[in-house]
Amino acid sequence: MERPCAWKKYTPQQIEELEELCRGYKKFLSENKTERLCVKAGIKMAEEAGYVDLETAIAEGRELKAGDKVYAANHGKDLMLVNLGTAPLEQGFNILGAHVDSPRLDLKQNPAFEAGDMAYLDTHYYGGVKSYHWVASPLALVGVICKKDGTTVDINIGDKADDPVFTISDLLIHLSSEQMSKPAKDAVDAEILDVIVGGRPVKFDEDDKDAPKEPVKQMFLDILKEQYDVEEEDFLSAEIEVVPAGPARDMGLDRSMILGYGHDDRVCAYPSMLAQINVADVERTSITLIVDKEEIGSVGATGMTSRFFENTVAEIMTLAGESSPLALRRALARSRMLSSDVSAGFDPGYAGKFETKNAAFMGRGLCFNKYTGSRGKGGSNDADAEYVALVRDIMDEAGVDFQTCELGRVNAGGGGTIAYIMAEYGMNVIDSGVAVLSMHALWEVANKADIYEAYRGYKAFIERA
Ligand SMILES: [Zn+2]
Repeated sequence: MERPCAWKKYTPQQIEELEELCRGYKKFLSENKTERLCVKAGIKMAEEAGYVDLETAIAEGRELKAGDKVYAANHGKDLMLVNLGTAPLEQGFNILGAHVDSPRLDLKQNPAFEAGDMAYLDTHYYGGVKSYHWVASPLALVGVICKKDGTTVDINIGDKADDPVFTISDLLIHLSSEQMSKPAKDAVDAEILDVIVGGRPVKFDEDDKDAPKEPVKQMFLDILKEQYDVEEEDFLSAEIEVVPAGPARDMGLDRSMILGYGHDDRVCAYPSMLAQINVADVERTSITLIVDKEEIGSVGATGMTSRFFENTVAEIMTLAGESSPLALRRALARSRMLSSDVSAGFDPGYAGKFETKNAAFMGRGLCFNKYTGSRGKGGSNDADAEYVALVRDIMDEAGVDFQTCELGRVNAGGGGTIAYIMAEYGMNVIDSGVAVLSMHALWEVANKADIYEAYRGYKAFIERA
């Protein structure tokens, strides 16, 4: 059963809507290259739409009722947007979920060193990356340095037009005969993913016995001190992410696609948040959940396996006068969720890795994966056929273009999402999302039609599930 290309059906007005959505998305993607920044931007979007901080509602003992809109943030890295519906909360929620952490290089805690008269910052990669992607490309440093006095310094260098950028060098081709014969996974050792940040020494007198032993590194540290008031030791309590420098851009002469860093999974997170705030009145309470740490197994206080979601629901139900533990369990079990993450877009250059009847094609709309996982569906959340039928009906009713797919051929590899974690409550969850090319590379490709259909699909789900 082949699904049609979504572009064919669009009216001029729909093309305008699509472009407007994608302009907003490109800006979001370009300005928010870390999970912290995505959450900050999400809070801004929510507040502009009338959402109030749950902490404020709790502090004031505010009673929550239908039509109230609240948000909760967790360590600045997760965000939950809640729009209370007219139905009792115990009847369950319509939930959209996506993650905003993306593969990258994190600075180590002791990152700075000098070698070959250059200053470097050492990194430890985060998530699934191919080391060889990260060399010989312009890079930016984005994140926070937390000081002992309790203040936080925001770092964001490399994205503005007149900012300096950074890079990791690659071995010149002339000396690469040994490197080029290695398997790709060994071609660039992850331990030498060191970012060059300086090449000029501080001036000192050769006879001075207190002269710095690493004058180029010293120059880098002096500039940091001058511009950001931080010491080398402050890197101990910093989270600086090394990310590709530069904005997301239209791709193709027809401008049908977007090339950007971090589509995985902001291409699902942004339309989810937008759908959440653009559907004002709901019967079943709608929730959009934006989470961190998906790329490393949903671990830690900000990963999906933390209790943040459950605890926040409990707080909200209490303020809404439905405080019994049983009501909470019922609400969770009766909820329905689209757990969104990017799908593997069919790539003709690697056609052998896909089975085309069940592959995601670029431009054919929102993807649904009944199951993900690897080998015999290991690690997957396998959505009920009954639930898939409900989702199909919602999408067809709303005229949303969608496609069903698997992550590549059987036994070609595989992957997982946050779906199975939410399914532990007994709720219906299906994996959905937008197809991308070059997943986890520095620059990933998404088709604008898929982003638009995702947004339309998310809206329909909130309204009708
Ligand atoms: Zn992902």
